Formats: sequence, structure tokens, C-alpha cells
Amino acid sequence: MERWQDLFGRAALGALTRSDSYIQGFEYIKLLAERVREARLEVLRNLEYYIDKTLKAVENLGGHSYVAKDAEEARRIVGDIVGKGKVVVFGKSNTALEVGLREHLAKLGNEVWETDLGEFIVQIGEDKPSNMIAPALHLDRKDVARLFKERLNLDLPDDPSALASAAGEFLRQKFVRADVGVTGANAIAADTGAVVNVENEGNIRKATILPPVHIVVAGVEKIVPTLPDAINQAIVQAAYHGLYPPTYIEISAGPSSTGDIELVRVRPAQGPREFHLVLVDNGRRKAAEDPVLRQALLCIRCVRCGFVCPIYKTVGREFGEPPYVGPVGVMWLAVTKGIEAAGPAALMCAHAGNCKEVCPMKIDIPEVIRYIRTNYLRRIRSTS
Ligand code: SF4
Repeated sequence: MERWQDLFGRAALGALTRSDSYIQGFEYIKLLAERVREARLEVLRNLEYYIDKTLKAVENLGGHSYVAKDAEEARRIVGDIVGKGKVVVFGKSNTALEVGLREHLAKLGNEVWETDLGEFIVQIGEDKPSNMIAPALHLDRKDVARLFKERLNLDLPDDPSALASAAGEFLRQKFVRADVGVTGANAIAADTGAVVNVENEGNIRKATILPPVHIVVAGVEKIVPTLPDAINQAIVQAAYHGLYPPTYIEISAGPSSTGDIELVRVRPAQGPREFHLVLVDNGRRKAAEDPVLRQALLCIRCVRCGFVCPIYKTVGREFGEPPYVGPVGVMWLAVTKGIEAAGPAALMCAHAGNCKEVCPMKIDIPEVIRYIRTNYLRRIRSTS
């Protein structure tokens, strides 16, 4: 526990210091955050309209679109697209983790690799993520060097650059052979069907363009009205997370295309020939109807609330259930698994209130957690 506190303390301080400097230094960040909140609220008020609009927009691009009502249906849809005997590379997707997609595709007989470095470390260690953006935050460089030696037979110094570059080389071989790339989405534009992802490593970019098939698995709450809204959200997420400017923002809009012959746009071109968007409900629509819990759907997953939370700092991923940990994780457990699943974590909350102060979406996180706790206790009492 002491080791986690040390690792977390250093990471959180760095991230908070950097994000504060971006918010102060780039005046437009706060303004964009307000616009993103408005855009997300607009979709929440008219969720079915925007889901329908997004599905049609993706089909207009020559892609395929689906809505999965729960985790099982999401696994089935993606499993049917992928089949078996394929090499599948995952970009970062907490929704894919939420629905157990990696394990499902592996069970079907596919070779599946996480390509985000933190997620890759967690995968080869047969471990669980400790943070929604930095999944291997609970491990230090020595742990990672040991894992690479034990699981990949790579004898490397405990130097982050050497480890990152060895992982990059290992994964490059997987990308070249990959049949399918699965990514999440930071935001999905209902007006165009375009999916926006923000990242630094370049693995999402590779997963979206190298394999012949690209599948996006993302929650319905990721929909925003327009493509500029989606790009704004990527900018805001990166700044509040503490890595700004992000190295890459990608837009994926349907299968690859070209207009180079007579300016006629044809698909596919050199990138994926198939594009699939799987929108996952799994409790989100129900949460959108809830007067308090619906706030959780505004979250842009910057994890800033976790960096200032005394309970997460103390107990780490025990505060929630991976991948949904920290203050945001408690809310998201309630959305995706119900009040019973989130209740024990809600009881751990000390209600310090720091999370609310730093949230770019102005989510009243303590209010949501209090609501989960009250309802959880009410249910326990009514059944005892
Ligand atoms: S609840 Fe707010 S601070 Fe926490 S991850 Fe979501 S947007 Fe960021």
C-alpha cells in the first residue's frame, strides 16, 4: 500500500501541476470545456435521437453500426465480426474492458494483444488496471523490466525508454500481422459518424489504419452533436489529464477512402476496408433517465478527480473495480453494474469534495456517490 501511495503521489503531482499550467496558459481550454459540457448535455437530453443519427451517419460513410444492449451482446456482435483464428490488436478501450472483450475474442481462438503500453504490461502480467488512463500505475520500472524478462524473454535495463522501445518493437510485429484493430473512442460525432481518439503513443493510430478491419467499441455517452465538438473534447481531455498538446488526435470516418481519380470518393483505399461502430448501452440509457446518476455520463475520462482523491490515493484500485476505479469509477460501476456493485466502494468515500472542484465537466461527484451510498444502504436494509 505504501508503495502504491508513493508511485501514485509522484504521478498525481506531476499530472496536476502540468494540467494546471495548461489550463492557466491556454485560455481557450476552460472555454472549450464549457462547450463540451453543453454538447454532452444536449446529447443526454436527446439520447435516442443522437444514437439514431450516429448509426445512420456511419452507414452513410460505408461503415456498419450496431447498438449492444449489454456486455453479452457487445461480445457477440464483435465476436461475429472477428470470427476465429485472427490476430487482433486493441487500442485503448475501457468499454472493451468493461464488456470483457479481450478474453472473449481469445476464447474464440484469436490471438489478441493490447497495444497501449500500460494495458500491454497489465495483459502480460495477467494483472488488473489500476487507473483508467495509466493502467500500470501500480508498477514501477523494476517490475516492468522483470515482467518483460519473465513473460517475453527480453533482458532489458530498468529504464523506461528502453522498456517502451522494446515493447514498441514487439508490438510492431503484431500490428503488421493484424487482421482486426479494435479501438475505443474519446468522442463520436453524430453529424458525420466520425470517431475521434486522442493519444500519445501512436498505437491507436496504427490499430485504426494497419489492419483491414477496424472496429470501434464505445459507450453511447461518447456521442456529441458535431465533429468540432468531438475534437474539442479530445483537446479538453488531454489538457485536464496533463499531457498537452496530445501527440496525436485521430479522426476515423468509415473505411479508408480516396478521391484521387476524377475526384470521385471511393472506398476502400490503403487503410481498413471495413469499419464497424459498436455503441454499447450496458446501463447507460437507464442512467440517462436517472436524475442524479445521469451526471456520470458527462465524464470525459480525464481521471483528474482520481489524482486529488484521498481514498484512491490510499487504497488504489480497491476503490472501485477495474477498469472503473477512483471517484469516476464508483459512478461508472453504478452505471454499468448497478447500485449493488458500486455500493461498497461508495461507502469508502470520505466526501472530501476535491474531485468536484477539479472536474472539467462540473460533475457533482460527491453528490452522485452519496446518492449511490444512500440507495445501496436502503436496499440492504429492505432485504435484511
Ligand atoms: S468525473 Fe470529471 S474529473 Fe473525473 S474523470 Fe470524469 S471528467 Fe475527469
